[in-house]
Amino acid sequence: MTDDRISHYLCIGCPLGCRLEVEEDARDTIVEVRGWSCKKGERYGRQEHTDPRRMVTTTVGIEGAALARLPVKTSQPVPKGQVTEVCRLLRTLKVSAPVRMGDVVLADIAGSGADVVATRDLS
Ligand code: SF4
Repeated sequence: MTDDRISHYLCIGCPLGCRLEVEEDARDTIVEVRGWSCKKGERYGRQEHTDPRRMVTTTVGIEGAALARLPVKTSQPVPKGQVTEVCRLLRTLKVSAPVRMGDVVLADIAGSGADVVATRDLS
């Protein structure tokens, strides 16, 4: 086994931060994930190797509220390659008060399948 068939990741599932190794065969098929201390880490290693995703948390502009910015997050992790586009779209988004925590302020952002939801009330 040559090292170029082994990729290294840091599990972010909990503060322990296990160091993961994902080994592929010559057909780019994962044959083993090593280094995890629980199954969550094994799943994370496979996901990170094949389809890395990230939650996006930020703020967007809001009109008619006591504060100028509304904190929001994506309803699910979005593909890592779409994070920049998601942030670009959110930079120009402006919503109107009142907003309730959990309200969808933008559905299916960038075609990612994730909605953008408010994480607090703003009246
Ligand atoms: S593998 Fe499990 S124990 Fe290790 S960092 Fe990930 S979630 Fe935590």
